[in-house]
Amino acid sequence: MNDKKEDEIYCPECGKAIKKNFNVCPYCGVKIKNNEVPDQTTNKTEEVGKALSGIGCSIMKIILCLAFIGFVIFIVYLFWAS
Ligand SMILES: [Zn+2]
Repeated sequence: MNDKKEDEIYCPECGKAIKKNFNVCPYCGVKIKNNEVPDQTTNKTEEVGKALSGIGCSIMKIILCLAFIGFVIFIVYLFWAS
């Protein structure tokens, strides 16, 4: 049984618990993608994705929906008024 501690991750190749700061699995030699290395492009995308998938998304949808409805009503009103 693997006893995974807080500073350990599972090797994606052999499934053994290894230290997070290892770049290479000591058991099977596979390269470990270190999550703590900042990938700015990915982080930005993830942050935006999280923000959009959170409460902000539904609020934004409601605001956009209301703005669109208001805009349509405004256009229709302009046509009818002229
Ligand atoms: Zn491994």
